[in-house]
Order: sequence, then structure tokens, then C-alpha cells
Amino acid sequence: MHKDIATPLRTKEILKKYGFSFKKSLGQNFLIDTNILKRIVEHANLTEESGAIEIGPGIGALTEQLAKVSKKVAAFEIDQRLMPILADTLSPYDNVAIIYEDILKANVEQAIEEHFNGIDDLMVVANLPYYVTTPIILKLLNENLRIRGIVCMLQKEVAARISASPGTKEYGSLSIAIQYYTEAEMVMIVPKTVFMPQPNVDSAVIRLTKRAKPAVEVMDEEFFFTVTRSCFAQRRKTILNNLTSQLPEGKSKKEQILQALEQAGVDPSRRGETLTIAEFGLLSDALLPTFK
Ligand code: SAM
Repeated sequence: MHKDIATPLRTKEILKKYGFSFKKSLGQNFLIDTNILKRIVEHANLTEESGAIEIGPGIGALTEQLAKVSKKVAAFEIDQRLMPILADTLSPYDNVAIIYEDILKANVEQAIEEHFNGIDDLMVVANLPYYVTTPIILKLLNENLRIRGIVCMLQKEVAARISASPGTKEYGSLSIAIQYYTEAEMVMIVPKTVFMPQPNVDSAVIRLTKRAKPAVEVMDEEFFFTVTRSCFAQRRKTILNNLTSQLPEGKSKKEQILQALEQAGVDPSRRGETLTIAEFGLLSDALLPTFK
């Protein structure tokens, strides 16, 4: 049995052997605690029949744990300097493919077809680069990929916003953008000490389980997201004031908005943070005929 990658000693050995220096701009904070990695993997509920998509394998700490419990792993890595390292550290595993591409530019659907042919159960599992967590998660959800969900580590503060419920100060347009497609839970808080180098922020792991259909049925998805963003434009303002300043100009604009609010059964003096996704759905459908 070879040594796990994710220990302080082995990680230091690997970095030294290859003269690797961390790039802060790529969010390179590697995990050095095998127990934490195993717990992250457990939250993904993978089986020997599952496929795992990883973003940012680094030196392979999480990749290795995924390779041990699943049928196949495909990982996207932007930093080509990691090529010789990953070829070495992951050489014991024959079920891993590394794709050296920026995940934000990659054709993920095509990669899934290529690497997971015949594998039905697919999960994304990642310790995300913190400078781009939200664009990555939104890309994976907006592209409607055939994944069961996403288990990922990110800044604790962003994890709290993603999984927030109505009526809390963390709840906002990001909570809605993600909970529209998934059920979101924060499943672990992770201390800074398990990373090398240690990040400046606290971390957490979230699990996003894709819904069979979106949380609310709306007539126009794009407009629904425009309306939710508008309602949170200035958090201290009422919905009426936010919508009045954000929606396009038109004849008797305020009256039209008041009418739509009444139709949706939403009190104009409420703030965005108190509305459920279902209420945003009703409001967006009521505003649609006049403002789109
Ligand atoms: N998975 C490793 C671990 O847990 O130790 C490394 C995680 S580290 C937080 C983030 C990784 O994402 C780095 O390897 C970094 O090079 C990579 N990365 C950064 N931006 C990326 C992008 N746009 N596409 C793919 N990988 C990226």
C-alpha cells in the first residue's frame, strides 16, 4: 500500500521533489488531511458504479480518494505545471483521467460523454479554487448536465449564502439561483489548519442535490432571475422601491408594479430577503407581461 497524498509530510515531499510553488491567483490551497477528504467523499454517496468529476485536482489529494471508491474519475485542472506531478502521484490508479483545461471554458458535456460512457450515476466533487467558486457552480447547474449533484468545499461565507433560508441575512439572489436547481445543505465546517498553505478565510463543504424539476415553475426563467436580482439590489429597500429603480422605464411604472405585487399576493413593503422561491415565481410571472 502506498502512502496517502494528503499528509503534511508527503505533500511537502512532492512539492520539494518537483520544485512546485503555489500560485495564489489560482486558489491553490491543498488539503493535507486524509480524514477530512474521506468525509467529503462520503457526503457524495458514491458507489463502485459511480463516476466522479473533479475540478482542480492539485497534486491529487482528493482525486486519489475518489479513485478508491468510484468507477472512474475525470478531473479538470488549469495548471499545466501539475502534469508531471499528477502523472506520478496518481500512477497507482488506472481509473483517472486529467483534463488540462480551464473548467469555465471547458465543454463539460462533451467530456462527460467521452469519459463516463455507460456510467449513470455522476457526481461533481471538488475543493474549489476560491476565486471562482460561484461561476463554476452556476456553470455546472446552468448547463443542465446529467449529474446527480455537487459536493464541494468553498468559503464558509459563500456556503452560508448558497444554503440560506428566507428570512436570514445570508439569503439572497445567490441562494435562489442555486436552490432553484438543487437542494442545498451545508454539511461540514472545515478549519484552516488542514490546508497548505492556509487560506485567509474559513471553509465549509456544501452538498447540492439536483431537483427532478426546478423549485418553482415559471413562464420565463431568465426574467425570473432578473426579478430576483432586482429585489435584492439594495437589501434595505422594500421590494416596491427596488423593482421601481431596477425594472425598465414605462408608462405608469409604479402602478403596474403595485398591480403585479397584488396579483402575486406579495405586500409591497416587504424586503426581498423575506420572499420564498415560490413567491418570487408568482411575482415574476405577474410582472412578465408588462416588463419583458
Ligand atoms: N483538489 C486539491 C486539494 O484538495 O488539495 C487542490 C484544490 S485547490 C483549492 C484548487 C485547484 O483548482 C488548484 O489545483 C488550481 O490549480 C485549480 N484551478 C484553479 N482555477 C481553475 C480553473 N479555472 N479550472 C480548473 N482548475 C482550476
